[in-house]
Amino acid sequence: MTDASIAEMNDLLARQRAAFLAEPNRSLKARREDLKKIEAITLDNQQAWVEAVSADFGHRNALETRLLELSVVARGIKDMRHKLAGWMKPQRVSTPLMSMPGRSYVRPDPKGVVGIVSPWNYPVQLALLPLATALAAGNRVMLKPSELTPNTSALMSKLLADIFPAEQVSVLEGGPDLAEAFCALPFDHIFYTGSTRVGRSVAAAAGNNLVPVTLELGGKSPALVSPDYSIDDAAHAIAWGRFLNAGQTCVAVDHVMAIGDAERARTIGHAVAQKAETFYPDFADNPDYTTVIAGQHFARLESMVEEARAAGAEILQPAHDPDAVRATRKFPPTVVINPPENLRLMREEIFGPVLPVLSKPSFDAAIDTVNAGDRPLALYVFSDMSSEIEHVLDHTHSGGVTINNAMLHVANDALPFGGNGPSGQGAYHGKFGFDELTHQRAVFRVGRWHTTRLVAPPYGKRAKSITDLALKL
Ligand code: NAD
Repeated sequence: MTDASIAEMNDLLARQRAAFLAEPNRSLKARREDLKKIEAITLDNQQAWVEAVSADFGHRNALETRLLELSVVARGIKDMRHKLAGWMKPQRVSTPLMSMPGRSYVRPDPKGVVGIVSPWNYPVQLALLPLATALAAGNRVMLKPSELTPNTSALMSKLLADIFPAEQVSVLEGGPDLAEAFCALPFDHIFYTGSTRVGRSVAAAAGNNLVPVTLELGGKSPALVSPDYSIDDAAHAIAWGRFLNAGQTCVAVDHVMAIGDAERARTIGHAVAQKAETFYPDFADNPDYTTVIAGQHFARLESMVEEARAAGAEILQPAHDPDAVRATRKFPPTVVINPPENLRLMREEIFGPVLPVLSKPSFDAAIDTVNAGDRPLALYVFSDMSSEIEHVLDHTHSGGVTINNAMLHVANDALPFGGNGPSGQGAYHGKFGFDELTHQRAVFRVGRWHTTRLVAPPYGKRAKSITDLALKL
């Protein structure tokens, strides 16, 4: 990070703040136009986005980029455009008797300049959706995308510069040094998506400036499978929820806890491996299977699996040539059955196509394991019995939950998307995002006369009776 770029970031922030002060409450019409512009660059450049993302990953199927990035952004923006008028309206609230006469309402004010830091795993969606949300809330945005997706970041930077002045939206490309300096800027809000480790330092930097922060982080999202649940249905959903995007999804199924004996875990593990085989036959050359983003992540996954192998765990992998897949970064879809729980596989977020399947004697034993770790970003329960589902929900905490499938709660904009404790704080999607990036300003408008006249000093009998009354109301 050079001084020039720190100076450049400070200058941009000053210019954005000046522009914000000149137009502190962008009109509904202007915000809708902002959103339409982002929708247009998303939908009109599908091939360019697909190619940029695939080049950054090594390979990713066009369908996954169109379905999991472009359509998510476009649908999210449509929802915002339709509902924005209602969200922007001041909300009248009740006024207590003692404060009457008067009117109370909550005014959703823009915050100002929002700093957004995005990760590499869904580099379009996780940058453009927070950006659109911030603009819908009337803010200006400085965006720092991931250094691991330079093609996507360059395309995004160009397309956004074509439709927005730098005083409204600007993209700053750079690595961790720049990101660190970026998060030390006195924004009006920081919206960070990435790992829990970096999230801690972002929170500390924001705290120094008393900047409010949204943290969309990671963690180990478990799937708990009831002893009576259909193996085929569970295996299908779990294989989809683990191997999509080669497991590089924040809400991917990180590991499975099969309720029952060791044999039940084996049966489920083999069924998931079979599904992976059906989804991605000949995975190394399969065009539907995504590559691991970078060599260091490939090596990290290899060493996790080797540690499990050395510990004697059963490992299911399709036949492959290790050197060849290392060269192309297509990591074999891997299932690890009943690994010891002190391994890295069970301590760290895996974030790749490797799935440990453990056996737990009861739901309560699985719940104890969940509660002994960090609160996960997502939790999955596979059961046909409401009593089992409610028991798990009542006794665990997580950012969100999908029952009898994986990841789908994230696809509904009527639900908040966010973590819980170490998996994040704050939430977005739909109205939750609008509220997150809005200052809820309390306004109380009094009439010409107000009860405060009756309780003003010097305190006499009347003030005392009113205070007595206030304590009884
Ligand atoms: P990362 O934390 O390494 O990087 C994310 C961003 O942070 C990048 O833009 C990077 O430049 C920046 N960064 C790096 N060092 C920084 C610093 N010291 N200060 C400020 N910013 C810094 O994460 P990643 O590897 O890109 O993403 C993977 C992680 O993100 C996983 O843990 C995953 O679960 C999580 N994730 C969460 C969500 C969610 O919505 N909750 C979505 C996607 C990914």
